[in-house]
Amino acid sequence: MGPGPSDVPSRVLEALARPTIGHLDPVFLQALDETQAMLREVFGTANALTLPMSATGSAGMETCFVNLLEPGDHALICRHGVFGGRMAEVARRCGAEVTLVDAPWGQAIDPDDVAKAAKSRAFKVLAIVHAETSTGVLQDLSPFRAIADSCGALLLVDTVTSLAGVPVDVDRMGIDAVYSGTQKCLSCPPGLSPVSFSERARHVLSTRDTPVQSWYLDLNLIGQYFGGERVYHHTAPVNMIFALHEALRLVLEEGLTARYARHRQQAEALRQGLEALGLELPVAPTDRLPPLTLVRIPDGVDDRAVRAKLLADHGLEIGGGLGDFKGKAWRIGLMGASATPRHVELCLGALREALR
Ligand SMILES: *Cc1c(COP(=O)(O)O)cnc(C)c1O
Repeated sequence: MGPGPSDVPSRVLEALARPTIGHLDPVFLQALDETQAMLREVFGTANALTLPMSATGSAGMETCFVNLLEPGDHALICRHGVFGGRMAEVARRCGAEVTLVDAPWGQAIDPDDVAKAAKSRAFKVLAIVHAETSTGVLQDLSPFRAIADSCGALLLVDTVTSLAGVPVDVDRMGIDAVYSGTQKCLSCPPGLSPVSFSERARHVLSTRDTPVQSWYLDLNLIGQYFGGERVYHHTAPVNMIFALHEALRLVLEEGLTARYARHRQQAEALRQGLEALGLELPVAPTDRLPPLTLVRIPDGVDDRAVRAKLLADHGLEIGGGLGDFKGKAWRIGLMGASATPRHVELCLGALREALR
């Protein structure tokens, strides 16, 4: 119950253990096609270029930036936690000039601040994190398409902790480039990063002046394997794709609406239980992220000792604080298969005992 990986259902582990077959075997290619179709459904997009990158969420982040940015381009990046900061670092390494819009840790980005920064010049990309796993803040994405349009930017969104836990609605929100990860609300092991590019983003990609500086993450090349021509680029991680295929089947069997409701309900039960223990939740109620709850560590309580006791006595992992919250807060995840009443009760009972 930390910031990921979440619990992996046995059906997904069994899929991972299927015999390894060739990455051009028709049985595998069918699973790959179905995986892409299910990803489109979960992302809420019709984007043809929707696929799982063969690496973790950070590689999905890097995929979006390296394919869209060229040296000298300007990027407007929102930072209200660790992952916005990581996006800025990745964009700079692409040779881009980065303009940052900050919000204090534990708060959402103020769209008015971004709109103001967008007036200063044209930008190639406007990037924002939907679900900041370092702070437990959910960002309302609805104002950002219009802001991106006002400065001519593509809208790039991190949905690593939101996908399959809260609605993402890529097409409805007008998102051009999006990435996620498998080990959070999809409840699959870490190792793949679903990404999706709009037609507008694909146009930018296909009309670059310079080649994408990362050969491994170049979507012009990878698209030739996924797009039907099946041109060899790298060996697809066959078993991980089987696992993601099964994880997505579980998501769609439950139904997206029911899954989002389950995350909301369990988060609400956890928050009420934490407050009943006298614990303080630093994030404002309107900005709270159902899959991850930030809890202030009470004065005089030893952060590490409590977490070590939860792990030793109950096999229960919760996350420590990052950045401004290092040593000051815990991060409790309720992601995918880990968002159940049993998890909430286990966590509240174990914390009550440890704090006593
Ligand atoms: C976990 C996470 C990432 C990075 O994913 P890895 O799989 O650890 O590389 C990026 N963004 C957010 C919001 C995350 O929660």
